[in-house]
This record gives sequence, structure tokens and C-alpha cells, in this order.
Amino acid sequence: MEQKQWHQMKTEELQQALQLDPDQGLTEEEAGERRKTSGYNELSEGVKISPVALFLNQFKDFMVLVLLGATLISGLLGEYLDAVTIVAIIFINGILGFIQEFRAERSLRALKQLSAPTTRVVRDGKVIYIAARELVPGDVVLVESGDRVPADVRWIETNSCSVEESALTGESMPVNKHSAEILEEDVPLGDQKNIGFMGTMVTRGTARGVVIRTGMETEMGKIADLIQNTESQETPLQHRLEQLGKILIGVSLGLTILVVVAGILHGQPVPGMFLAGVSLAVAAIPEGLPAIVTIALALGVQRMIKRKAIVRKLPSVETLGCASVICSDKTGTLTQNKMTVTRVWLGGRTMEVTGQGYEPAGQILLKGKPVELRSDQALRRLLQVGGLCNNAEIIETAQEESRSRRKGKEAEPAAVWELKGDPTEGALLTLASKMGLTQTSLANMYQRDKEFPFDSTRKLMSVIVSHQGGRLLCTKGAPDVLLDKCTYILWDGNVVPLTPTLRQKVLGANEKMASEALRVLGLAYRDLRPHDRPESETEAECQLIFIGLTGMIDPPRKEVRDAISKCRRAGIKTVMITGDHRTTAEAIAAQLGILPRNGLSMTGQELARLDDKELDARVDQTYVYARVSPEHKLRIVKSLQRKGHVVAMTGDGVNDAPAIKAADIGIAMGITGTDVSKEASSLILSDDNFSTIVAAIEEGRSIYENIRKFIRYLLASNVGEILTMFFAMMMGLPLPLAPIQILWVNLVTDGLPAMALGVDQPEKDLMEQKPRGAKENIFARRLGWKIISRGFLIGLCTLGAFWLTLRIAPNDPAQLAKAQSVAFATLVMAQLIHVFDCRSSRSIFHRNPLQNKSLVLAVASSVLLMLGVMYIEALQPIFKTVPLGLKEWALTLVAAGIPTFLMGAGSVWGGRRNRRRSMMTKSANISA
Ligand code: ATP
Repeated sequence: MEQKQWHQMKTEELQQALQLDPDQGLTEEEAGERRKTSGYNELSEGVKISPVALFLNQFKDFMVLVLLGATLISGLLGEYLDAVTIVAIIFINGILGFIQEFRAERSLRALKQLSAPTTRVVRDGKVIYIAARELVPGDVVLVESGDRVPADVRWIETNSCSVEESALTGESMPVNKHSAEILEEDVPLGDQKNIGFMGTMVTRGTARGVVIRTGMETEMGKIADLIQNTESQETPLQHRLEQLGKILIGVSLGLTILVVVAGILHGQPVPGMFLAGVSLAVAAIPEGLPAIVTIALALGVQRMIKRKAIVRKLPSVETLGCASVICSDKTGTLTQNKMTVTRVWLGGRTMEVTGQGYEPAGQILLKGKPVELRSDQALRRLLQVGGLCNNAEIIETAQEESRSRRKGKEAEPAAVWELKGDPTEGALLTLASKMGLTQTSLANMYQRDKEFPFDSTRKLMSVIVSHQGGRLLCTKGAPDVLLDKCTYILWDGNVVPLTPTLRQKVLGANEKMASEALRVLGLAYRDLRPHDRPESETEAECQLIFIGLTGMIDPPRKEVRDAISKCRRAGIKTVMITGDHRTTAEAIAAQLGILPRNGLSMTGQELARLDDKELDARVDQTYVYARVSPEHKLRIVKSLQRKGHVVAMTGDGVNDAPAIKAADIGIAMGITGTDVSKEASSLILSDDNFSTIVAAIEEGRSIYENIRKFIRYLLASNVGEILTMFFAMMMGLPLPLAPIQILWVNLVTDGLPAMALGVDQPEKDLMEQKPRGAKENIFARRLGWKIISRGFLIGLCTLGAFWLTLRIAPNDPAQLAKAQSVAFATLVMAQLIHVFDCRSSRSIFHRNPLQNKSLVLAVASSVLLMLGVMYIEALQPIFKTVPLGLKEWALTLVAAGIPTFLMGAGSVWGGRRNRRRSMMTKSANISA
């Protein structure tokens, strides 16, 4: 066994213990072997509900138990057939419920898998991304600011690395980590400076570590039971529906009791009335509602995944539909994040750069003529600093040229230049390579001693490199920030003091490039004296010599302009929040149609000067925030929220997490986002693209409308069922439906058609309407009225058809059976016609009824099921049905059609009248 603990070992001892080469990492084979003993690197999940338990849960419902009891009693009284059939129907209902819930559960689990974390690891000498659960002891992992430490690791290299370990130690201040520290004693976790613990968060810097423990063996694993994720995924709507469900149970039970009492008072036999009452209660309680809501949510979420939006928190699906402002990052979300340097400014000279992408082909031209690197020391220094102060890598890969193959030629491999790392840095590498300063040649000449990593608050990055006995500090970053750290400038080949005039010249050049939508970066350097050992960035980044500026294009994403105008039509404001220069941001915002003519822009500095009240007064007119730091984002979100907006906010860095969390819909970037931002988010864009947010909002709206559609359908159907029985009992008529028929209506109409409504296509003008209010009641926009009016008519028409048939021979039991069959068919058909009406917020005439294929199929199978129990002779005695003649069918269909078509015609007429009235008002206004 280990003699020393991991934190007490020197690097060599560590390598020996784990048998590894830190540069090569493990081989895939070796990792596979080790996994056999170590298992997957994951914490065991909490107790899962088994399918059997899920199935049994279906029968736990109070009313179902009462029905089973009632059935048992009627069985004991000799109604065997009834009893068996009712049990069969309850069983089928249970299976349907089980399938719904099982599907819902499975899709939720699949979603969880999708947002599972990945990590960077060295395998076979290459840096690759793998799922964090694949890690094994001995793997070499790389982390940077914003990452979660994926397993317990022993650091072997750290660059200004701090880790926040509050999840483990409760200490919220980040701890500095040092790979070199060897701890002799058995120190507590919080003091183990050379160890990284699974689940803790890197807040600063970069580091390389060797995995020492995985999964349940880690320190986090030891306390896993305490931190089991018990967060409920219930959405506010689900919660409200659950409460509504309770009210509906009360109302249904109350009405059912009224029906039963009225029936008994009018001379109906007590046992029969009791069974009818219980069946009615079972049918009237919309027990399928929660499961269908979950399915509609889960299926909608799957459609979102196809559109590249991964929902992490189900409640956000609802909030998405209410979003009234989207605050979006610029780089990579609105733009392509494919940077190419097109301009260089050096001591008053402006140069153009040719070539595209990351291919090192192109020239630097001054007044149209190629510049010679040999004779231009300033340019050489600029390229060197850009190439050295850099963590990106450009790899040449070969790709088959399909065009030449199509022409019948030999396939020629074409070079493809692939970037690994930050595109801004990639652009600088390409610029240097265009002039022959390749990454390899720079790496051969200079050795990196230290790095002060880029940080979006500081907006600078520096490295210290040494070569031929000398040491150089290279810095790059936002020109306005960098200039404050410079005291000299390279001008005409000489280092001269940075006078206010020269400073103005630099700023003027910066402004000019920015106004052309270029992203501008400044570069500076300083020779270090032998005794200079700066430990912090403040010590290092001072008295610099400013070299020049590079301007890069980052073209807007093609689809974004359309997405923004779609948002505008949908009443959603788009706001750009960027760390970039104000002028660059404004230029791009104008190109994309974000910044209207009277719209304002604001810088982080200006924002910092405003108090909350002043910010609130301007926030509605401001469309661009530039040079902001992540903490400003939080103030913007809060201010917008105070103004009553529902805010969607994007972010990628570790410092963006508070704003993402505070936003109503926190959005993280799938590709460039840090683990921390992803964990804080409720939505992840797997393509980092703004248009995906708009697609998600569209889906969010559509899901909500679909939920409203089937709530409308289910509740109107139930109102219809109850009222049919209620009216009949009040009028002293016999039971219009036998108990078993009530249960069958419930089975054939509630399940499939409601589910098909849950996946209905959205109405055409979905994104032409204003966002709904966050507190809007589900029954708002006349939904409640529609439920009651349609339900009332369904009840009335069913009873009418029953009465008209019964009236012919009121005392003949055969006629009563026929009248019951007419009522049964009318009720089913009225609901199945009404389901098409539910697809539109206007009327049945506004949409093609055949568009939703699943609905057509569901309705067709429900009709078949109904015909089955009416026309299959063997089933007739069970369901107490008789086949109907033409006359009865005509009556049935007319009665069934009235609720939908009458109200539909009414709304069409009303719509026309409104339009005519508004036209008349308009023309009256014009003539006035
Ligand atoms: P957005 O917030 O829209 O993504 P951004 O990428 O410009 O915009 P940051 O990444 O915070 O925002 O960058 C802010 C500024 O920092 C940039 O305008 C640039 O001047 C500078 N900068 C960006 N990347 C680097 C880097 N790798 N090294 C040094 N400076 C950088």
C-alpha cells in the first residue's frame, strides 16, 4: 500500500506510483485496462424508481381505488361481466399512464446525460476531449479558469491557478494551488495546495494534473450521499396544474355527488347510481394531465435538442415563452468567432493583410507593396509578441478534395488549417506564419517561463519568455487598457516616450479600425532585468513599450440578422453585451440590426458611474453595452428585471455565472463555455449561436401553447361528460350513459388525441405575437371561457340527442339502450371533432385539420375503438350498446358537430365584424 499520501509525494515518486509519462499521458488501451478495476469516474446516483414501482403507482390514485372497490362490490352482487371489464379498462388506463410516465422519465434522464461534463486529457501524447466519466487514475488532465476539476488530481503544473473548494471545505475564498509544494505532514484537505478535488472549481489560471482517485473514491465521493442532487425538476406550470388538479378533483367529486343524489331522488336504483357516480368521477378527473404535460415538455425539449438548444432546467422551457429581452454576447454568438487579422498599425503606418482563415498564406502590404520582415524590426517584434503571448495551436490536416474526385481525377488531399484554442490568438499565429515566423520556430527560440492568463475583467494577457540569456515580457490586450500600462512606444524603429500626442495617435487609429467593425488588439513588451521576478500581473504589466495594433475581422453569423428581426416581430428586444470596444460593437450591432437609430450604447465605465435608478432610466433605450466586465452583466439583468422584463442572458466565462444564474433564462455556450457557466445555466447552446436562442424561444412558446391546447381539450371534454349526466339527473331522465360507457369514453378520448395535441405544430403567427406575461394564468386569453362554453354545449347536445331518441318510446328498455348508444356516440364524436378546434386560438376553420398526422391517426383509432364496441356483437352486451341506423347517425353527427361548428362560425363572424369595424374606424380617422 502507499507509504506516503499523494500530497506528500514528489513528482518523480508520483510518476512511479502511477507509472506514467506526464507528456504522453496514458494510451487508450491502458486507460481501458485501468477502467476495468477503477470503474467509471462518477458518483453513484440516488435511488431510481423501478419500472414495476412506476406501474404500480398508476393504481395508487384514490379514485381508482374507490372504483376498484365499487367494482368488487358489483362483482359480488353478480355483475361479473361489468366487474371484469371495468378492471380491464382500469388496467389498460394504467398501462397508458405507465407508458406516458416512463417515456417522460426516460427523456428526462437522456437530457441529463446530454449536459454531462467533458474534460481535456492527454492520451497517446495528444490533448483530446472526453466525457469526465471516462477518466481513470493516471490520466493527465488540463484545466483552466471556469472548469470543474473532473476527478481528484495531483497538480504537476500550475499557472496562477486558484480553485474554489467551498463544495468540499465550505471555504468560499479561492485557494491558490502550487504544483511544486510538497507537503510533509498529513494536512487537512483545505491545505493540500498540490491537490485538486473533484467537483471544485478553477476560478483563475491554468493547471495540469494527474488523476489520483476517481468516482466514489474521491473526496467528493466520500460525501456523495450528502450532496445527492435532489433538486426537483417540476416547472411552475406543473406545480400550478397539480394544485388545479386538486381543485378539479373537488369540483368533480362535488358534481358527481350531486348527480348521484339527484339520480337516487328521481328513483334510480342505488347500486347502479353508485357505480355510475364512481365511473363519472374517474372519467371527470383529468388524471392524465400531469403526465401529458411532462411528455409535451420532454418531447418539446427533444425538438429543441435537434435545433441545438439543450435544456438543463425544465422550468426554463416555460420561461422561454415569456422572454422579452435577450442579452447576447457578441463574439462567437452573434459573430462567427473566426478571426482574421486584416490590418496592422505600427507607429503611424497602416498596413493591409491579405489571406483568409487560419491558412498561413497571404502578405502584409504597405501602400500596396509587400513589407519585408528583414528590414522592419517593429513589425518583427509585433509578430513575435503576438505569437509568443499565445496559447492557441494551428494544425494542418489533410482533407480529400471531393471536387477533383467528381471530375474523375485522382483525389488530392487539400490542406485544412484547424484551430485549437482562442480564435483571437489563432489569428495572431496565422499573421506571424504569413511572414515566416511559425509557431515551431518561435518555440525553438524562446522558452516560456511564466504566464499571466487572459482574463475578461483585466482584458490583458502576458507571458515571460527567455532566450539566449535574456528575458522578455510580452503583453497583448484591449488597446485602451494596455496603453495605461505603457510608458514608451516603438516609433520609427526607436523606443520613445509615450507622449500624450502619440497616445492620441494610437487611440485615433484604434477608433478608426473599430468603426470598421474590426476587433482591435494592442501588443507591447518589456525586457526584464536578471533580478526581475514579477509574481503578480500588476508587478509585471507596467512600464511597457507599446508596439502597435492589429485589427481583425470576425464576420457576423449569416442567420443572425433574420433571427434578430424575427425577435423584433415577436416583441423581443435584443441587446448586445460585449467586452469589445464600443465602436466595434456599435458597428457590428448596426450591421445586424440590433441598434436602432435612436438606440443608445453604453460602456462598462459609464455603467459603473450610474446608480441603479439612473441605470433603470436608461436601460430600455440601451441596445449595446461595450467594454463591460462580467459583473456589469448582473447589474444589467437586475435592472431589466426591475423594469418588468423576462431576461435571457448568455455567458461563457466563470465570472458570468452570477448573471446567468440571476437571469430568468441563463444561457451558456456549449463549445466555448466553461463548466461553471454551464452549471449555472438553464439552457446550453450546443452551437454557441444566437439564432438557436430564438429557435428555443419559438419552441418554448409552442410547447406552452400545446399544453394550453390539451388542457382545453381535456377539461372541455370532462365538463361535457359531467354536464350530460348532471342535466339528465336534474331532469329526472334515466342514465344517458352506462357506467362502463363513461369509462370507455374516458379511455378512447383522453389518451391518444390529447397526446397528439401535445406535439401539435405551432400556429403560423406564433412569433408575430408579443411574449406572454410571466404571471399569465393558464386559462388567460379566453381559454377558460372556451372550456366552459364548449363543454356546456357538448353536454347539452349529447343530452339533446339522447332525449330525442328516448322520446320515441320512453318506457321501452330497447329504446333506452339505443338512446344510450346515441349519447355514447355523440359524446365521443363531439370530443373528437372538438379536438381539432383546440388546435387554433381562433376557430376550427383557421387550420388545416389534416396537418397534424398524429392527431388524425389518434382520432381515427378512437373512432374505430368506439365503432368496435358498438358493432362487434360479442362486445355489445358488455358495453350495453346497440348498432345505430342511418337516422340515429345523422342525429349523432349533427349534435356532435354543433358545439365546434356553431362556436367556430360565431368566431369567424365576430372576427369579420371586428375587422370591418376597425377598417371603418381607420377610414374615419383618415377622412377626419
Ligand atoms: P464577448 O463578450 O462578446 O464575447 P469579447 O470576446 O470581445 O466579447 P472578452 O473576451 O471579454 O470579450 O474580450 C475583451 C477584450 O479583451 C477584447 O476586446 C480584446 O481587446 C481583449 N482580448 C480578447 N481576447 C484576448 C486574448 N486572448 N488575449 C489578450 N486580450 C484579449
